[in-house]
Amino acid sequence: MFLVFFSYKASMLAVQRLPGLFYNNDLWQLKNSMIGPILWALNMYALLVLRVRVKRQSVLHLWLSVAMLALLMEVTLELWAGMRFTLGWYVAKINSLISATIVLCAIVNEVNRLFIRLSEQHRQLIESEDQLEVANEQLLRLTNLDGLTEIPNRRRLDEILDRELQTPEERSNALSLLMIDIDYFKDYNDYYGHQAGDQVLKKVAQTIYAAAKRERGFAARYGGEEFVVILAGHHAQQTLELAERLRGEVAALAIEHHRSKVDNCVTISMGGYSLCPHEPMTSEELIRHADDCLYQAKAAGRNRAIVKGGCS
Ligand code: GH3
Ligand code: MG
Ligand code: MG
Repeated sequence: MFLVFFSYKASMLAVQRLPGLFYNNDLWQLKNSMIGPILWALNMYALLVLRVRVKRQSVLHLWLSVAMLALLMEVTLELWAGMRFTLGWYVAKINSLISATIVLCAIVNEVNRLFIRLSEQHRQLIESEDQLEVANEQLLRLTNLDGLTEIPNRRRLDEILDRELQTPEERSNALSLLMIDIDYFKDYNDYYGHQAGDQVLKKVAQTIYAAAKRERGFAARYGGEEFVVILAGHHAQQTLELAERLRGEVAALAIEHHRSKVDNCVTISMGGYSLCPHEPMTSEELIRHADDCLYQAKAAGRNRAIVKGGCS
């Protein structure tokens, strides 16, 4: 409101100081003083620039051309009308109105089109962001999961183990690692075929994974037919108890294994090692200790678990 008021006041002040262009409604004065022809020429030039010089013509350019034409007609008619309030002068005013309306419509239309395009691009952006998130999740899943058994892989195991072991001074609980190996699995493959072997790996892996999850532990495929379970807060005795439960669960799968020398179904052997709270050890050392126990369990006849280390 203030802006309008001050603009009006300023223009009224200027009116007093500016020289008049024509007097007594005589428009011929405009024509004769060259102001009219210059104005006409400028309009014509603007129209030509719009039609000829602009390379990529859009709908907006077409509308602006029509508006410019209407404006040119207005100037022409006004100059040739001779006097104000003649028929030519009125037609010129109508042309002016048409020109202004067309410009307004063209601008509204263009803004509308831009808004629609912007909304569409925004929608596409949100959509591709969602797709990217899904793809990232999938990628993360693929890099951390074992393709066959669909439980975490060796890479994920190393990550978790390093994280658990890197600050022993902060670890106020025991930590155990259990290494699990399927007994006589090569013989199983040889007798039942590799594909049947794959199915066994899947079933045993899922059983180990579920058991570890129940104990808030972490399970991964270490490689081949070997698996590892990490149990935070588990002492050697608790680890041995879990190992025995696990042995029972795998036996309960009742997967026939006629080539096994310990049973007529698939069995597992386990070696575990427990760390006391704050006890420092590298992941390689911890795995080696658990592997030694596994070796002893195998040597002692398989289908059993041996857990060492830690404090009871
Ligand atoms: P042990 O009782 O001493 O553990 O004997 P084993 O036969 O289980 O052990 P060994 O290390 O001799 O053989 C492991 C076998 O595991 C050999 C290989 O064919 C099999 N294996 C490893 N990875 C896969 C797999 O992804 N799929 C299948 N089907 N078999 C696999
Ligand atoms: Mg093995
Ligand atoms: Mg084996």
